[in-house]
Amino acid sequence: MTTPSPFIPPERTLMGPGPSDVSPRVLNAMARPTLGHLDPLFIELMDETKSLLQYAFKTSNALTMPVSAPGSAGMEACLANLIEPGEKVVVCVNGVFGSRMVENVKRMGAEPVIVEDPWGQQTSLQKVEDALKAHSDIVALAFVHAETSTGVRNDAQALCKLARQYQCLSIVDAVTSLGGIELAVDEWEIDAVYSGSQKCLSCVPGLSPVTFSERAVAKIQSRTTPVQSWFLDMNLIVGYWGKGGRRAYHHTAPVNSIYALYESLRMLKEEGLEACWQRHENGHQQLAEGLQALGLELAVAPEYRLPQLNVVKIPDGVDDTEVRRQLLKHSNLEIGAGLGEFAGKVWRIGLMGYACKPRNIDHCLAALKRALS
Ligand SMILES: *Cc1c(COP(=O)(O)O)cnc(C)c1O
Repeated sequence: MTTPSPFIPPERTLMGPGPSDVSPRVLNAMARPTLGHLDPLFIELMDETKSLLQYAFKTSNALTMPVSAPGSAGMEACLANLIEPGEKVVVCVNGVFGSRMVENVKRMGAEPVIVEDPWGQQTSLQKVEDALKAHSDIVALAFVHAETSTGVRNDAQALCKLARQYQCLSIVDAVTSLGGIELAVDEWEIDAVYSGSQKCLSCVPGLSPVTFSERAVAKIQSRTTPVQSWFLDMNLIVGYWGKGGRRAYHHTAPVNSIYALYESLRMLKEEGLEACWQRHENGHQQLAEGLQALGLELAVAPEYRLPQLNVVKIPDGVDDTEVRRQLLKHSNLEIGAGLGEFAGKVWRIGLMGYACKPRNIDHCLAALKRALS
């Protein structure tokens, strides 16, 4: 058998729902020599990475680190550690990722109390409050901050305030929000947050930054049942990602991916978190104006639109798949298809992290214009 040829991917522009474009700085960092995962220099890097994540999350939570797996594992880590079998959790569903939280809660042997809103609309604060009032034994409120399937921003600050008011923990999906829109973990008193490396942090896929408040840690430590996942049990992971020099083997961290995450967080710090949010907002304005000029319409109301994920209605008579195929073929450009209820009805144009820049937006608008004509 002959050796297969090497895989040399083309240089695409990634403007879908993630992964987003990765900066050459991040890719170069990733190619540096692998260290042992308990090498003192790598342990220092782990600490630096934790500090940078605290900056990105706006938190001083000690339990802040990247889970060694993608965003879905962060979701599972937060839910598995904070929920015990038989407990009740309010889960807000207005898109794909809220439904996944429901699925996780069920598999944990817990009972989801579902607050459902239509796709493309925000989670209703009134409905959430009604659910919290109706059940006195809710232990947590779980929701998605930036619903990547619909382009909707849920009001994380107000939802977390309700969670505090009704004395339950808040669990927030910030996979697409971290770095793209305002997120203030300590100020909003969020208890558990998970994110992803490949959206607005524009790092390579495969890591899920998480952070847990002291209230969350207290709950994890006082559980009466073991966390159902050995790999994601924070009681065990703290021995590895936790304090000071006494690190013990738990699993092997993806060493080079941590180099990449560290470099992407350094870029975030250099730019400044607030400036980074503003860049996403500016990019969104530029794109929205250009789309309007092409006669294309955004599907989400301006008050709660995500700047980093623009959901565009596909005009009648336009072939969804054919347009996306042409963008890929002629412009090396990837945009996202609609998911679930939105399949075939919308495109999802991501302006995430490194991909969110005027040149890319011009490129995308020109490519769309060509494909539509
Ligand atoms: C992408 C995404 C996830 C899942 O992340 P993976 O890295 O694909 O596992 C979860 N929630 C939201 C809101 C996302 O956009």
